[in-house]
Amino acid sequence: MNRPYNFSAGPSALPLAVLQQAAAEMADWHGAGLSVMEMSHRSKAFGRIRDEAEADLRTLLAVPDDFAVLFMQGGASAQNALIPMNLAQRHGPAMADYVVAGHWSRKSWNEARRYGDMALAATAEAAAQIDGQAYEAWCWMPGPEQWRIRADAAYLHVCANETIGGVELPDLPDLAQLGCPDVPLVVDMSSNILTRAIDFSRLGMVYAGAQKNAGSAGVTLVIIRRDLLGHATGCCPSVFDFAQVAAADSMFNTPPTYGIYITGLVFKWLLEQGGVPAMDAASSAKSQLLYSYIDQSALYVNPIHPPVRSRMNIPFRLRDTALEALFLAESEAAGLLALKGHKSVGGMRASLYNATPLAGAQALVAFMRDFEARHG
Ligand code: PMP
Repeated sequence: MNRPYNFSAGPSALPLAVLQQAAAEMADWHGAGLSVMEMSHRSKAFGRIRDEAEADLRTLLAVPDDFAVLFMQGGASAQNALIPMNLAQRHGPAMADYVVAGHWSRKSWNEARRYGDMALAATAEAAAQIDGQAYEAWCWMPGPEQWRIRADAAYLHVCANETIGGVELPDLPDLAQLGCPDVPLVVDMSSNILTRAIDFSRLGMVYAGAQKNAGSAGVTLVIIRRDLLGHATGCCPSVFDFAQVAAADSMFNTPPTYGIYITGLVFKWLLEQGGVPAMDAASSAKSQLLYSYIDQSALYVNPIHPPVRSRMNIPFRLRDTALEALFLAESEAAGLLALKGHKSVGGMRASLYNATPLAGAQALVAFMRDFEARHG
């Protein structure tokens, strides 16, 4: 089968092996005589699918026992409200701190502000001068040593990878070292979960929509330290109360069964590929290939401060912006799909998630080189 390379920011490419297995099992899952879509979520067969998905995710990320794994719905956007509803009033009036480094963390902060006193710990909304170099707003990230964290904040929220801006936090900070040992770190990893190891000793909660690196849309992964459960406000819907979801093994109500099945197949595929260490190495290799070509090119430019450049989402512009429409038309014709940048940023964006092989990044660079030779 000759499939084009898909650089969509999400929903995004899935491993072909996963799609083929799902197709083979579509009408008859393992001799059950029915599709996963037709099974009761309370059936033994689906119980096995759910349990294996959780076990495989725990293996992939080395999730400690004192963390619960939840399969939820509503996407990361629902979490923007559910996190304050569940966590912000852990020890008094609702309050928490937010680092805002791009579109998605700003959205999280703006939604959370409806639920309490949400302070900005840091923001990249202004342009900055770093090492004599000028960076526009959202093209850099304030370092953790500059974050103003309230020692009694119910949590600190950060987005580990800004999917639109193309900025990635290189490491999860250690809040104890920053003088806030009692503030749990809450991390949106929607666009980089399962691409690097997670140090759970630094973490209160991580969440991610599955539709980029982990599976299909409709499943939201939540991994949360168990001692943070049980603090939901009275107005939090029971179906979104983390403690109730955890107590019911993510089956408080009918879960997104087919999405959990696909996500579970992706987990098995990831394990076969060598797990998170292999994805980590592949993410570095793919992104470095693209960045090093862009940096030596006279036509393409990436505006992000190099230490915080995303390995997942690489926005780039053409110095001659009049060529951008031609670039998009020609790249699509060459079998390189979905390279159009987000409308708020313009230009191009290549998303290099787990299911995109090194050959995809190589094909993209070869096309960019050829385009530059013809039009640069
Ligand atoms: N956070 C990040 C980092 C994202 O990339 C996205 C989606 N692109 C969201 C949150 C919102 O996710 P959803 O559409 O699943 O609600």
